[in-house]
Amino acid sequence: MSAIVIVGGGQAAVAAAARLRALKVERPITIIADEAVLPYQRPPLSKSYLLGGASLTDILLRPASWYADLGIEILTGTRVDHIDRNRQRVTCDTGEERAYGTLVLATGGSPRAWPATLGGNLGGVYVARNKADADRLMPEMIPGKTMLVVGGGYVGLEAAAVGAELGLNVTVIEADARILNRVASSATSDFLRKLHVRHGVSIKESTGLVRFVGNNGRVAEAETSDGSILPIDFAIVGIGITPNIGLAEGCGLAVMNGILVDAFGRTSDPNVYAVGDCAAFPYGQGTVRLECVQNAIDLAEAAAASIAGSPKPYVPVPWFWSDQYDAKLQIAGLNTGYTDVLSRAGKTADARSLWYFDKERFLAVDAINDGKSFVMGKKLLARGISPSRDILADPDIDVVGYVQSLLR
Ligand SMILES: Cc1cc2nc3c(=O)[nH]c(=O)nc-3n(C[C@H](O)[C@H](O)[C@H](O)COP(=O)(O)OP(=O)(O)OC[C@H]3O[C@@H](n4cnc5c(N)ncnc54)[C@H](O)[C@@H]3O)c2cc1C
Repeated sequence: MSAIVIVGGGQAAVAAAARLRALKVERPITIIADEAVLPYQRPPLSKSYLLGGASLTDILLRPASWYADLGIEILTGTRVDHIDRNRQRVTCDTGEERAYGTLVLATGGSPRAWPATLGGNLGGVYVARNKADADRLMPEMIPGKTMLVVGGGYVGLEAAAVGAELGLNVTVIEADARILNRVASSATSDFLRKLHVRHGVSIKESTGLVRFVGNNGRVAEAETSDGSILPIDFAIVGIGITPNIGLAEGCGLAVMNGILVDAFGRTSDPNVYAVGDCAAFPYGQGTVRLECVQNAIDLAEAAAASIAGSPKPYVPVPWFWSDQYDAKLQIAGLNTGYTDVLSRAGKTADARSLWYFDKERFLAVDAINDGKSFVMGKKLLARGISPSRDILADPDIDVVGYVQSLLR
């Protein structure tokens, strides 16, 4: 039986292996992962783990026994450096070669680094992508210290919330006109901005980083585009990720802001799949690459089904969550191309839901402290049903009852 080799040790890699075994695929499976530890959940790295409330064991995706019990070989601390598609072999940084019948690329993404020429290589400048990053960052999270977060995306805002909760002086700078500009409506940005300001975080929008200035090799100041010089103790740069496509590119697979795959996770080589943050799949008239846990799991499971011989196309209904202070934001769907946003008050003062439409077509919902609206929106999206904007706009309408009537 030819082997299945999975490159990468994140959510997508483990989901692919788990689904292959669940589908009774008995071929040898090897996961090759470059991080030193067993695969773990990444979301807690900017939430409970960074806050110091979770250990590695708490965040592991599966315990060591799970791999052994299912006969899944896992090589940690091992990086795949080369793929030879003619010989169907991968070469690791250890020099070891592995033959494959099927290869799954689950290589994720790498954080965009701030240029070294502009102070990005100074001590005290961090990124937040993996456990090692969080472990380096945690000793800095001391009450009274001044922390700068560069980038007002979800990861940056979550880290800012942890900093504020731990008693640090936190500033977030965002080059765009508003935080979360790329991913959420202005109403969601407004809600989160107010929440952070209430917790003492200073949020400066339309303010980019010009450079870090160091003192004895350690960051001391940040110069920003509005001409300010901010004295800081350390900084987290959260300006997005780039997909890890180097291996795929190196062996001639089709890539374009991600490894291009079809609706079954197959790349331009039928023996090679790509899943998770590194993969770009068909969506609407083009392709999309998503960076969320649910996509990592669902695309990996679609690929596993295809490998198992029971292909089912991946129809993404992505969802995402973000915890900041005691607020829970849950997002279902993709709001790309929205023309209108409808805002509904929730049952409590701090609850709200934002419903995104492309004209009459329902695209996505952001639910803040409003789990019911999230669940209902997700159900509608899964069934491809658009609720009436007029009915939803009525504050007296019970969302649950209304959506259930549509789902019947
Ligand atoms: C701090 C943080 C918070 C987040 N919060 C949320 C959240 O609240 N909700 C949500 O839905 N999503 C969240 N995300 C995003 C989510 O974690 C990712 O979308 C998901 O982990 C993607 O999984 P993946 O397996 O595709 O990639 P990754 O998790 O990036 O895993 C890829 C792995 O492959 C390894 N690798 C790469 N190249 C090689 C190679 N050549 N050889 C061997 N190994 C290799 C990488 O080192 C990495 O360990 C968060 C991400 C971060 C960083």
